[in-house]
Amino acid sequence: MSETNFCGVERTLVIFKPDAVQRGIVGEIMSRFERVGLKIVGIKMAAPSRDHYYEHYEDIGKMVTRRGEDTFNVTLDFMMDGPVIAMVLEGVEAVPLVRKIVGPTEPKSADMGTIRGDYSHMSFGYADSCEKGVPNLIHASGDSDEAKQEIAHWFSDKELSEYSSLHEKFTR
Ligand code: ADP
Ligand code: MG
Repeated sequence: MSETNFCGVERTLVIFKPDAVQRGIVGEIMSRFERVGLKIVGIKMAAPSRDHYYEHYEDIGKMVTRRGEDTFNVTLDFMMDGPVIAMVLEGVEAVPLVRKIVGPTEPKSADMGTIRGDYSHMSFGYADSCEKGVPNLIHASGDSDEAKQEIAHWFSDKELSEYSSLHEKFTR
């Protein structure tokens, strides 16, 4: 399917960052996406190159402009710390739904009940003064356009599956 169909069903990219993988809480967190009815249409473990992350966070995510070069560099260092698990989720308005489940960028500001609020606590102030990328567990596409570009960057068409989920009885 295209990333968004006429009913608002769309796809979004989720990445379990190195902190989630190394803490062994991927399964626990993944269940939060499954239980709202989001459908996993692609999933893999990967240890991408710095160039791959450069494209992800700057060519697509425009992070240098938004956050500055120092933050961009420490974020790439953090993402290079170990393998990640990348996943494509499909559902009704999946991009904003997944962002709601994940919570805002700064763990300190993220409400309890969101993934970042429940599983992490670092502040921007601490990260900036210690020159660390914020370990906030999950990457999630910021908008539909970013989602389309990110999915194409991380997954080939062959790696994405079409199938029916039981939730679709009520959403299609
Ligand atoms: P989000 O991941 O919520 O979409 P951004 O796209 O702005 O946020 O930033 C990408 C990632 O860069 C964040 O998830 C976080 O890991 C890291 N990051 C953002 N801002 C900072 C900062 N001030 N200090 C350290 N790391 C940061
Ligand atoms: Mg972002």
